[in-house]
Order: sequence, then structure tokens, then C-alpha cells
Amino acid sequence: MRKKIVAGNWKMNKTFAEGVELAREVNDYVRYKEGGEGVLVVLGTPFIHLAKVAHNITETSLMVAAQNCATEKAGAYTGEVSADMIASTGAKCVILGHSERRSYYGETSPILVKKVAQALDSKLEIIFCVGEVLEEREAEKHFEVVKQQLTDGLFNLTPEQFAHVVIAYEPVWAIGTGKTATPAQAQEMHAFIRSVVAEKYGQTVANETSILYGGSCNPGNADAIFSNPDVDGGLIGGASLKAADFFEIIKARA
Ligand code: PEP
Repeated sequence: MRKKIVAGNWKMNKTFAEGVELAREVNDYVRYKEGGEGVLVVLGTPFIHLAKVAHNITETSLMVAAQNCATEKAGAYTGEVSADMIASTGAKCVILGHSERRSYYGETSPILVKKVAQALDSKLEIIFCVGEVLEEREAEKHFEVVKQQLTDGLFNLTPEQFAHVVIAYEPVWAIGTGKTATPAQAQEMHAFIRSVVAEKYGQTVANETSILYGGSCNPGNADAIFSNPDVDGGLIGGASLKAADFFEIIKARA
């Protein structure tokens, strides 16, 4: 059975104290099982929170993730944070290929291939983001674009390595815009992604790959999106910053 996952992506939000407090609230929510049974909850925090949040977590169904890692292992790369450093904080996961990283920081597929390799070398799980921009959807190129991102970013991996990857489908036009893909659009793309994974790694691996939806997911639409058979959970930006909203989304996935 593939995992049900709700992952928060805090992006560049929360001071140290605010982040530690939000993580405490989520930990307590998971601990006292107020409706989130069976869901792996991930907190994608800024680097500064990783060590403290990882240290404070008491629940095995809660995991801390970084939002990026360096392409290199160590050395003279001022301002970078390596996958080894992330793992050394107790964080178990890293989000890679987010559209904001791709578009604002020029993260191309060859760069992502290096980051994925570093993450795997440091024994981190990976949430790998793919998704088309609005013009690509309007030109009906969204399937082609997503298949290319998967092929170029991930398909050099062995099946054993690929088992550490969760895919997040995030249509760029839906991220932070309040515009969500319809449940039917999400299901259609998730089923397509699963078929592309099956073509490459076989149906068994595809059936075990968790595929998350991201893009303006909130307590009002989570139920409808998660009710699709190929949507295994969500990558949640804005709505992960308020504990009450995030809890509602976790509950919707349970
Ligand atoms: C994201 O950043 O991954 C995301 C999905 O953001 P939002 O939920 O705010 O659209």
C-alpha cells in the first residue's frame, strides 16, 4: 500500500520561534490523533528550523523536510546547504524541483539530477515536484511537459533509488493563486504520471509511488481532491502556515 501523505511547504515564512511553535502544534495534533490516522505528515521548513523541529518531534508519523539542497557534497559553496548537513539535523526528507526553485533560481533538470543524487546519498526521502505553466496547459502540452520533467529529473534512478521518491504534481498556475485544478484535472494528471512511472519501472513500483497534489489546496477543497484514486495526498503551501487549516487538510486525507 502506498502512503497517504500531507506535506506542508512553509516556503520563506515563519521566524524561528513561530516555526517551532507551529511544529509543536502539529506534533500534538498527530500525537493525540485528532483525526489524522494513517497519514504521514511532513513539515517542509526553512533550513533554520530543521534541527530544532526534528529534535522536538515525538511522533513517527511526522517528518521534517528541507525545501532544497546543494548540488555538491561539501566545500567552498558559500550560502549553500548540503544534503549531508540536512540529514545531520535529523530531517529525513527534502523537497526538490519546486516551481519557485525552477523559475526564480534557474533549477534545470541537470541541476535537479545532481540534487536528487546528493539527497539519496544522504539517505533523505525526496518529494519531487513537477507541473506545467498556464501557457503549456492552454496549449495542451501539460502531459508532455510533466513526462519530460519526470524523465529528465528522475528516470536515471534505479528502481531501488526511485522507491525513495514521492512525486508532487503542482500545476504552476495553481500555486499560491487561489486557483485549484479541478478534482478531475488532478485525477487525470495523477493517473497519467502513474502510467509514465509504470512504463519506466513497472506497474508494481507505480502502484507503490505516492503522488501528491499541490496548488491552492485548502480545507474547502481538500476532500474533493483527495477522493480521487490516484491522489495520495497533498503538498500544501499557504494553508500549511495556519495550524487549524493544516489539521483540516490532514483530516481530509485520513
Ligand atoms: C506549494 O508551494 O507547493 C503550494 C502548493 O503552494 P499553495 O498551496 O500556497 O498553492
